[in-house]
Amino acid sequence: MLIRLARHSGFCFGVKRAINSAMKAAADGDNIVTLGPIIHNPQMVERLAEHGIGYVDGIEQLGKGDTAIIRSHGVTRETLRELEQKNVKIIDATCPHVSGTQQFTRQLKEEGYTVLILGNREHPEVIALQSYADGEAIIVASADEFIPKNYARLGIISQTTQPLGKLQELVTKAVPCCGRLLMMNTICNATSIRQESTLTLAQDSDIMIVVGGHNSSNTKMLALISSRCVQTYHIEMASELKPQWFEGRERIGITAGASTPDWIIVDVYNKINEYTGDRDCKTNNVADIPGYQEE
Ligand code: SF4
Repeated sequence: MLIRLARHSGFCFGVKRAINSAMKAAADGDNIVTLGPIIHNPQMVERLAEHGIGYVDGIEQLGKGDTAIIRSHGVTRETLRELEQKNVKIIDATCPHVSGTQQFTRQLKEEGYTVLILGNREHPEVIALQSYADGEAIIVASADEFIPKNYARLGIISQTTQPLGKLQELVTKAVPCCGRLLMMNTICNATSIRQESTLTLAQDSDIMIVVGGHNSSNTKMLALISSRCVQTYHIEMASELKPQWFEGRERIGITAGASTPDWIIVDVYNKINEYTGDRDCKTNNVADIPGYQEE
């Protein structure tokens, strides 16, 4: 029997960086709050609360002396301005990849391009990006939503977590209707390599366990990719695992979204190990499990 972890799973660079910034500031004695939950993982949000790191839903809830952490997917320009006026300490943990996309959006706007964003219009990253185009961007969830007409200058960007194929389809559809087209591949490969390694593992497994917040879109995407190949269960915690899922399975795969902390992956791996009788396990990392710690 094999229990294997997808080669790339769990926290991405940007999420790790934001959490480390929050932890460090809390350890320095600051009163830390994030604007909205720092990641889409309720267990991690709870653990941060134990370290005194809470969150607020709006700037008006910030108190004097608070330190506000900007999450990895950034905030709107207006929010940033309001924060600066509020006179609170700000730690900007916007992922550098996301801030690069924001700067490029601004450049497009200033150079007179119509900005076209591929992404989920309700996602905070996309809402923030739109503000860098002064709220005038066209947002589409796929090429199908793009209505071709003549654009003298069109600039295309993408939410960092979109699949590359969708961006390619959009560019293909946009090319014939542009005088000048400027496009930057703003997709972050942390997402695509997690998707690729999930697919690779799912194709060689009898069952896949996808670990991550039920409200995490990148984890849901991993579950979707995996379920096209093999029986797949999306769980948040080891306690959701059921021993009967593993009966008669020889090759068990585990993958985790970019907002899933290592300690949950370790719990899941060890629980499966317990249910299946601890035979011929193989890791593929998270620091070679059993009681892995470091955060
Ligand atoms: S998925 Fe990529 S862009 Fe988003 S926070 Fe992680 S590293 Fe940054």
